[in-house]
Amino acid sequence: MESCRILLSPPHLSGNEQRYIDEAFKTNWIAPLGPHVDAFEKEIACYVGASDAAAVSSGTAAIHLALSLLDVKKGDTVFCSSLTFVASANPIIYQGAEPVFIDSEPDTWNMSPKALEKAFKAASAEGILPKVVIVVNLYGQSAKMDEILSLCNHYKVPMIEDAAESLGSSYKGKQSGTFGKFGVFSFNGNKIITTSGGGMLISNDIEEIRKARFLATQARDPAPHYQHSKIGFNYRLSNILAGIGRAQLEVLEERVRARRIIFNRYVQELGHLPGINFMPELENTRSNRWLTAFTINENETEVTAGEVLKNLMNDNIEARPVWKPLHMQPIFEKARYYPHSENENISEKLFNHGVCLPSGSCMTYEEQLRVVNCIKKTLTKGLKERDESRLKKILT
Ligand SMILES: *Cc1c(COP(=O)(O)O)cnc(C)c1O
Repeated sequence: MESCRILLSPPHLSGNEQRYIDEAFKTNWIAPLGPHVDAFEKEIACYVGASDAAAVSSGTAAIHLALSLLDVKKGDTVFCSSLTFVASANPIIYQGAEPVFIDSEPDTWNMSPKALEKAFKAASAEGILPKVVIVVNLYGQSAKMDEILSLCNHYKVPMIEDAAESLGSSYKGKQSGTFGKFGVFSFNGNKIITTSGGGMLISNDIEEIRKARFLATQARDPAPHYQHSKIGFNYRLSNILAGIGRAQLEVLEERVRARRIIFNRYVQELGHLPGINFMPELENTRSNRWLTAFTINENETEVTAGEVLKNLMNDNIEARPVWKPLHMQPIFEKARYYPHSENENISEKLFNHGVCLPSGSCMTYEEQLRVVNCIKKTLTKGLKERDESRLKKILT
């Protein structure tokens, strides 16, 4: 019998979305502005404890606006986490600047303060500091903010926090996204809450958020005749989508709780198996566990991450490798890269041995058992083969 497909991270509606959409239709606010946009911005800012927020059409647009506001341009370099989705770095190219990629460290899988320090020292010696540092919180886990911020402050370089995957997470009691000059959230269909597509730029600098709204609305000067003294973008979020976002934000805490339960269940079922290591959670941080991820030590399992992924696919389960590091991407072939240490390349290791499991907050217990059983079956096969080869060794 064909079993139902289990998706990696599908949208999970609360049931209230339609009410907000209807309100937008009834009042004819079918525009990239309106009461839902204003309210959604206020509600997000309030939730994370930031001074202000600008709702935009995507997380990528929010990163682009932040770089634009920080005057990143041709001739500049921008330091960026290497282990991330390409959208973290593409806006650097939109601005004509050059990305420099920073490796991960093993405790959070995020930007290595050691590698960052090395990159800063080299840049300082060359006499061109980066214009900005973009730090990503992978799969909901916050990077080592204290260490990273202390380096950024030392070199007086502003930080953008790409919190596209970590809305609802916290680091030492402070909400994810609020650590840098700007924070970025995404409401793409696969994120912890969604507007089908959308993003948010947040900051404690109210004036900068005002400028972001201006740039995101084609940079229209205050004149009735459409005057422009700056190049802008068409990046605002529609009032209908903001309505969906408001309904989703109401259940964000529930969604985080559900994803954390799913993570814990995976650990309970698989965590004790030899060679399986789940993504850690740094002390005093709370990850939203957007995606459950683990690595496989092939010397212990005799099964590769690729085989696990293949078997999951054959069982109609959507799983993914960990992000391919950006310094390994063909489009960034020429970019500089700073590894964690001379002989430790953490992001490449995570990519080669990592697996992301279905983690949707609407996944049922039965569905999760299907995932668990498929992995267990794959690993048992590996162990059996190893025992046989051991047997052979003993016999010969
Ligand atoms: C999803 C994501 C983005 C981009 O967000 P969009 O809304 O899809 O443009 C940026 N960075 C990271 C780390 C992401 O996961």
